[in-house]
Amino acid sequence: AARPPRELETVLGWADTLRKLGVRANADTGRDARTAVELGAEGIGLCRTEHQFLGERLPLIRRVILAADPEAERRALDALAEAQREDFRELLRGTGSRPVTVRLLDAPMHEFLPAPGRAGDAEAEERAEELREANPMLGVRGVRLALLHDRLYPAQAEALFGAWLDVRAEGVEPELEVMIPLVSLPEELTAAARQVRAAAEAVAARAGIDVSAVPYRIGSMVETPRAALLAGELARTAQFLSFGTNDLTQLTYGFSRDDVERRVLEPYVAGGLLAASPFERLDADGVGALIEIAVQRARAVRPDIKLGLCGEHGGDPASIELCDRLGLDYVSCSPGRVPVARLAAAQATCAAQEGRTP
Ligand code: PEP
Ligand code: MG
Repeated sequence: AARPPRELETVLGWADTLRKLGVRANADTGRDARTAVELGAEGIGLCRTEHQFLGERLPLIRRVILAADPEAERRALDALAEAQREDFRELLRGTGSRPVTVRLLDAPMHEFLPAPGRAGDAEAEERAEELREANPMLGVRGVRLALLHDRLYPAQAEALFGAWLDVRAEGVEPELEVMIPLVSLPEELTAAARQVRAAAEAVAARAGIDVSAVPYRIGSMVETPRAALLAGELARTAQFLSFGTNDLTQLTYGFSRDDVERRVLEPYVAGGLLAASPFERLDADGVGALIEIAVQRARAVRPDIKLGLCGEHGGDPASIELCDRLGLDYVSCSPGRVPVARLAAAQATCAAQEGRTP
């Protein structure tokens, strides 16, 4: 039902023959993935797994984070992995035999901690208290959490590879891309990659197949300025990189991405200091310059590295034009913006050929 009207499909088809830039979608569920594919997405560029644990499934993560001992953690992880295998099966069925980037958990801790006084017992309360942070967006997020709970990413990765086995039996053959979030040190990536590889080995061994038969790549988000500057080092481990321009913008400017209407930005835009919010339009001189450095450094080390962008900018035409100019392989945006992204990518290619800006 998401399919555009036939006339628009025709125009989008023309755009597809022109554009260089790939267009994928951000989707967390099988349903979103199906919508994205109907709208012309060539794959899923970002599945935010933490979104699969909001609402009533929140205890699945909370039990891992607040586990009293290794045995309680193991039980909590088993429950989490079982739920994830089902989530991933649905996602892979919705995506079909296309690339799908699954990002391992990037939970800012505060979203998963109980309110003070609601942890259950005094010990859990104490553990929760220890984990509370003044700046959770700069705290134990993403890969940092995985290094504290070193069974967490393996549990997710095993669920993903297990789901791949399940859908393969149905004739669906997705290309898996396992993505590590909020990396700022190459060592974080190598540690997480080791966990993912071990998970692939374990699943393959249990299924009696060679691990080389599991089609997966490991990659890193580039969403801290340090990761952008060290993209060459990351590329020694990463087979793909994806620019997370929401965090990269936040961390480059030091503007909070979360504050309602980003009031701090208003005077800048109203006073003409900034033409647009950098969260909406990729900033060519700042965030864009970091991306350009990262692209050069990553390709110098691994010329065939796949490079994408999955922040909100991936659906903004002016930002798409910049992505084309920087030579990225694809952008990934919310499913509803896929048709516009296809058109904008084609416009960018035409403009570049004619030596003008669109
Ligand atoms: C980003 O930071 O741009 C990104 C895609 O990740 P998230 O929005 O989930 O932090
Ligand atoms: Mg991010």
